[in-house]
Amino acid sequence: MKRTLLEEDHEQFRELAAEFNSREIAPHYAAWDAAHMMPRSMWRAAGEAGLLGLAIPEEFGGMGIDDYRYRVVLDEEFVRCGHLGVALAFHLQDDLVLPYLLAYGSTDLKSRWLPGMAEGSTVTSCALTEPGAGSDLRGIRTKAVRDGDDWLLTGQKTFIGNGVSGDAALVLARTDGGTGRGSQDSYSLFMVSRTEGYSCGNQLDKMGVRASDTAELFFDAVRVPGADLIGELGAGLRYVKEQLPQARLAIAVAASAVARASYEQALQYATDRHAFGDNLLQFQNTRFELADMLTAAAVTELYVDRAVESFNAGELDDIDAAQVKLWASERAKEISDRALQVHGGYGYILEYPIAQAFLAARLLTIFGGTSEIMRESIGRSLAAGA
Ligand SMILES: Cc1cc2nc3c(=O)[nH]c(=O)nc-3n(C[C@H](O)[C@H](O)[C@H](O)COP(=O)(O)OP(=O)(O)OC[C@H]3O[C@@H](n4cnc5c(N)ncnc54)[C@H](O)[C@@H]3O)c2cc1C
Repeated sequence: MKRTLLEEDHEQFRELAAEFNSREIAPHYAAWDAAHMMPRSMWRAAGEAGLLGLAIPEEFGGMGIDDYRYRVVLDEEFVRCGHLGVALAFHLQDDLVLPYLLAYGSTDLKSRWLPGMAEGSTVTSCALTEPGAGSDLRGIRTKAVRDGDDWLLTGQKTFIGNGVSGDAALVLARTDGGTGRGSQDSYSLFMVSRTEGYSCGNQLDKMGVRASDTAELFFDAVRVPGADLIGELGAGLRYVKEQLPQARLAIAVAASAVARASYEQALQYATDRHAFGDNLLQFQNTRFELADMLTAAAVTELYVDRAVESFNAGELDDIDAAQVKLWASERAKEISDRALQVHGGYGYILEYPIAQAFLAARLLTIFGGTSEIMRESIGRSLAAGA
């Protein structure tokens, strides 16, 4: 069935993204992957090409595009070209940091951060997870204590994407002075600039999406001006919950793109590879595998497309988003695994795109909330409604 999500303007944007991919990324991507880092010049080039911070209003240097379909096209292009680290790095800034600044940031915060994020001169990270607390954010220990008009921030975060390259982090911290698991209003969000006491540990050695840097962050009595509190004091967890639809939808979009790309790579390989006198499509098993993959990828695409429409209409809630993230990320994991098998030994070699897709897919059922947490959220909503 033909997809109906995208219109001509989106397809024109796709051409822009494809041209950017071949001009600015393809020649360097393998080197960035090996170095676990992308240069700032790539961010600036993306800003110049109009690919960053699409939702940033014009008054803050952006284009004010609140149609999520443009983000979908961008993700699809990065995944199709195998530039999964770029997709992840942009996702962290545009789906995980930007929405908080737009929804709850003061005009002062917006004017200080958004223009740089739109032009690519500023890179940011979203720092929620800690060594002792990921799924259970009430278990975080990073704390911010008042000191006059400022806050002193102390603690540690881990698995933070753009953590090494970033100029600032959106940080969730305990602000009620308590210890142990806090209540709903015990936590707040801050936009924390790199300054004295803010350091990052070594690069974490990830299996896949390596071009995107990931690190531990340390805060040793970092002085955070009062103006860098995002929104209301004590509203941090509420804001995180309110932003779950976009965070989860974004991962579902990437997962659907990984599923589709994996299927296409398997089909291409099965067509080109010869064994026992003909190509792999001579084997009924290969055809059946491809049929299953295509069907699952198509169902996933339609489901994700419908979720994008619902998000654009302001109707996608956190449970809808949990369902679509659960479905799409599990399908990406399964399809990339089966597509890898079709490649035989070559599937295990990292220079083959399917190996990279498989490794990227493995992340999608974990980060942004694990599949178990998605099931838990969906299940709890059933119990609440019973
Ligand atoms: C490459 C990468 C990039 C990341 N980027 C970021 C980032 O930029 N910013 C950020 O803040 N975080 C980031 N994360 C962290 C990620 O979101 C967490 O790893 C994830 O939420 C899981 O948390 P955890 O690792 O602490 O696992 P845990 O919470 O310790 O979970 C361990 C296991 O227990 C299961 N489990 C936990 N609670 C329950 C429950 N109630 N019911 C059933 N099962 C449960 C989980 O599903 C999992 O299988 C990143 C992670 C990775 C790997």
